[in-house]
Amino acid sequence: MSNLTFGIIKPDAVRKGVHGSIIQRILDDGFQIRGMKLIHQSRKQAEGFYAVHRERPFFGELTKFMSSAPCIVMVLEKENAVPEWRNLMGATNPAEAEEGTLRKEFASSIGENAVHGSDSVENAAIEISYFFSKLELV
Ligand code: ATP
Ligand code: MG
Repeated sequence: MSNLTFGIIKPDAVRKGVHGSIIQRILDDGFQIRGMKLIHQSRKQAEGFYAVHRERPFFGELTKFMSSAPCIVMVLEKENAVPEWRNLMGATNPAEAEEGTLRKEFASSIGENAVHGSDSVENAAIEISYFFSKLELV
């Protein structure tokens, strides 16, 4: 499983119509897409997904945003997928994201930052199973 990670193209990016460009960048970077679907999360589903952040001051804002519009959930495969996907995403705050990263190009703010990526192999497995059944992965 260490060659898999979980990603989300967040509601801000789908709303702006840049999800196609982001998917192209993912493919160009050498990832294989093993699972992908467009979903509109309920508030409860977003709260469950981001439960680790429930004590943080931005939890309400974050879960409201993540349930505000459709997003694309993805299972991505590449060698060292977790750090490779985080490198392509760039820093959480787009103001600090490096040139060539998705957040530099597509994020609007620290909250509406275009993409999500798992931060460890363990969390990738948990996050994949939160949104995908085994049958949905190719
Ligand atoms: P993600 O988990 O979405 O991939 P990340 O790992 O870079 O992002 P985290 O610290 O896990 O960053 O924060 C989760 C998400 O919460 C961020 O992507 C962002 O949308 C939101 N967030 C983080 N910090 C802030 C903040 N100070 N104000 C508003 N929203 C924030
Ligand atoms: Mg995170």
